[in-house]
Amino acid sequence: MAATLIDGKAFAAKVRGQVAEHVARLKEEHGITPGLAVVLVGEDPASQVYVRSKGKSTVEVGMNSYEHKLDAETSEADLLALIGKLNSDPAVNGILVQLPLPKHMNEELVINSIAPEKDVDGFHISNVGLLGTGQKSMVPCTPLGCLMMLRDHHGSLSGMDAVVIGRSNIVGKPMAQLLLGDSCTVTIAHSRTKDLPEVVRRADIVVAAVGRPEMVPGDWIKEGATVIDVGINRIERGGKNVLVGDVDFASAAERAGAITPVPGGVGPMTIACLLANTVTAACRAHNLAEPE
Ligand code: NDP
Repeated sequence: MAATLIDGKAFAAKVRGQVAEHVARLKEEHGITPGLAVVLVGEDPASQVYVRSKGKSTVEVGMNSYEHKLDAETSEADLLALIGKLNSDPAVNGILVQLPLPKHMNEELVINSIAPEKDVDGFHISNVGLLGTGQKSMVPCTPLGCLMMLRDHHGSLSGMDAVVIGRSNIVGKPMAQLLLGDSCTVTIAHSRTKDLPEVVRRADIVVAAVGRPEMVPGDWIKEGATVIDVGINRIERGGKNVLVGDVDFASAAERAGAITPVPGGVGPMTIACLLANTVTAACRAHNLAEPE
């Protein structure tokens, strides 16, 4: 393997440590304990795992975690009423509604009912608009984690050619906005992109957020490029269930200058950024200096 491995697990541990220090200072100097409320509707097994691990990580950095588990038949009105209560609860600085929601609920309506300053996922339409216009906002956790790893590795990203594969509202589009904000020349590719291999070959930075196991082979990667693999795909290999990314790691690592593994790359950074966003929200709520 020629590429440098970007160790998301180690970097996330560092970010969580910084969050814990900030939380300790908030408690000691201001008597404030930031709080994150996570709302889960239904029994989706993957969502249950995510919610549990978010709650555990929140407590580990010294913040309060409030878990609200509602059954799958909960009405949208009841969910909106709960969010209304959390919006006006001063102990709650961040609110996260675990997606996907059951089919009878309107996800956009629910997300947009969260107070934007408590929207630690950064999905509220106000935060989307603020990010798009380069204003202070809550930034979606996964793309924020990717940006932090890129800045850490490169320092400045100015002038670099970045290709984001995937145009979802939660990863692809905000990722492209963040890279543009750091003065990259950004291309967003998607399922209708013509000649994707050629588009990817010109990139200094490739962010793959597609959801198709190992679809980006090494020979699409420009020599020395930095590859951030957002994909989390569960496949069967050699009779075992394994996690793989959207990039074929083995062949891409031969050509890339740096690459994130799956697992252990973007995934751990997502939760670390959720915690960081919650501290940021708590600081903003009390007019205190935000973490860098
Ligand atoms: P979506 O399904 O919402 O979006 C996938 C995007 O990929 C779409 O824009 C789609 O294009 C594009 N796409 C699909 N097929 C192709 C193709 N053949 N060529 C080019 N583009 C294609 O997925 P998400 O953005 O929610 O997630 C993407 C991946 O990231 C998933 O594996 C998910 O599990 C993972 N993920 C990981 C997180 C983490 O913490 N590490 C957090 C969130 C997601 P079109 O719009 O044209 O359909």
